[in-house]
Amino acid sequence: MDEVTFLDEARRFLDQHATVRVDDSLAWGNGDDRVGGRRARSSEAVLEEVATAKRWKALEFDAGFGWITGPVEYGGRGLSAGHDRLYKELRSGYDVPDLASFTISLGMVCPTLIAHGTDEVRDRYVRRLHRGELIACQLFSEPGAGSDLASVATRAVRDGDEWVVDGQKVWTSGAHYTDIGEVLCRTDPDAPKHKGLTAFVVDMKAPGVTIRPLKMMNGGAEFNEVFLDGVRIHDSHRLGAVDDGWRTALTTLMSERSLGAGRDVFGVERAIEMLRLAIVHLGLADDPIVRQRFAEVYIMAKTIGYNGLRADERRRAGVPPGPLESIFKLANTNTLTAIASLASHVVGVAMTADSGAWGTFSWSEFVSSTPGTRIAAGTDEIMRNILGERVLGLPKEPVG
Ligand SMILES: Cc1cc2nc3c(=O)[nH]c(=O)nc-3n(C[C@H](O)[C@H](O)[C@H](O)COP(=O)(O)OP(=O)(O)OC[C@H]3O[C@@H](n4cnc5c(N)ncnc54)[C@H](O)[C@@H]3O)c2cc1C
Repeated sequence: MDEVTFLDEARRFLDQHATVRVDDSLAWGNGDDRVGGRRARSSEAVLEEVATAKRWKALEFDAGFGWITGPVEYGGRGLSAGHDRLYKELRSGYDVPDLASFTISLGMVCPTLIAHGTDEVRDRYVRRLHRGELIACQLFSEPGAGSDLASVATRAVRDGDEWVVDGQKVWTSGAHYTDIGEVLCRTDPDAPKHKGLTAFVVDMKAPGVTIRPLKMMNGGAEFNEVFLDGVRIHDSHRLGAVDDGWRTALTTLMSERSLGAGRDVFGVERAIEMLRLAIVHLGLADDPIVRQRFAEVYIMAKTIGYNGLRADERRRAGVPPGPLESIFKLANTNTLTAIASLASHVVGVAMTADSGAWGTFSWSEFVSSTPGTRIAAGTDEIMRNILGERVLGLPKEPVG
C-alpha cells in the first residue's frame, strides 16, 4: 500500500477515535508537571491504565494499525517499518492511552514466542497479544538469580505430557495484570548451569501461581514476587528444545536491549526540558556550574539520539540486535542519573515535600525512580561487562 493512501486511512481512524492533542508545549506552570521516566503508581492506578490501554489496543488492531509490520497470518498488516514509523508519528499528535504496559509483552515476550514457540503457542497467543486481549510478563529473575541469570533454580519436572513447576520469581513487572508469562526453569540440575534450562509459557491464572506486589522506593507497586507451587504446564507450551532455554532467554534479552535503541523510552527528552525550565525559573541560568552541568546532560541526551539513528540504520540493513545494544541502555541510565543529580542540586529541598509549587516536588518521583532503571533489564555493570568483552574484545572477567 502506498504511503499516502495509508496515511489518509490512518488519519481517518485517529480522527474518529482520538482527539488531536492540544498545544502541550512545556512552559513553567503550564499543565502536567510530571518529569518523565518511570512513574510511581499504585497497583489500582496501573490496573485502570491497563484496562484503558487494552481497549485502545483492540480498536487500533481491528482497524489495521495495531501491528503494522506483523505477518498477515497472525493478524499483522504485513507493511514496512516505514509505514509503522509514519503511523506512530501521526499518532503522536493525538491523545491516546499510555501503551507502556505492553512493552514487555510485545517488545520482548511476543518475539520470543514467534521465534521459539510451537504452532499451538503462536496460534493461540500472538494475535491476542498484539490485539491487547492478553498481556505477557517476563519471569526470569529470582532471589538467587539476577545478573547471573543462568543460576535460575525454579524447577520444572516432566510428568507425561506436562511439566510441574516449583519455585519463586521476583521483580516481575506487571505480573498482577498479565495473563501469561515466559518462565525460565531448571530442567537438568546436573548439567552446567547454562545447559540445563528450559523456557515455557505459563498461564498466570493457573492453580499454584501466587502473585504478591512489591512496593518500590518511588512509592509505586508495579512489580511483584511470583510463587509457583506445583504449576502444571503442557509440553506444547515449551519455548525451544528441552535444556536449551538459555538460547530462548537470549532472544528475549536481546529484544529487551534493543527496546531502548533509538526511542526515548525513558523520557529523557521531557526530563531535559523540565530541567531547563527549572534552571531558568529558579534563577540559576547564569550559574556557571549549573550551566556547565546542564550542557553535559544535554550533550549526553543528544548522543543518545544520534546513536538511535545509527541503530535505525542497522535495523533497516537487517542486522539483528546484538551486544552493541547494551550501549543504549547504559547511555540512557547514565543520562537519567546525571539529570537526577543536577535536578537535586537545582530544585533542592523543594523536591522533598509537596508545597503545591509547579515543577519542583514532581522531581521526587523522577529522582527516586532513576536508581531502578540502572538495575532493570541488566545492571550498568553487566552492560559494561558485555560491551567490554563482546564488543571491545577485552579479556573475560575471572570466574569466581
Ligand atoms: C524496575 C525493575 C523492573 C524489573 N522487571 C523485571 C521483570 O519484569 N522480570 C524479571 O525477570 N526481572 C525484572 N527485574 C529484575 C532485574 O532484571 C534484576 O534486578 C537485575 O538483573 C539484577 O539482578 P539482582 O537484582 O539479582 O542483582 P545482583 O545480580 O545480585 O547484583 C547486585 C550487584 O552486583 C553487581 N554485579 C553482579 N554481577 C556482577 C558482575 N559479574 N560484574 C560486575 N558487577 C556485578 C550488579 O551490577 C549489582 O550492582 C526488574 C528490576 C527492576 C529494578
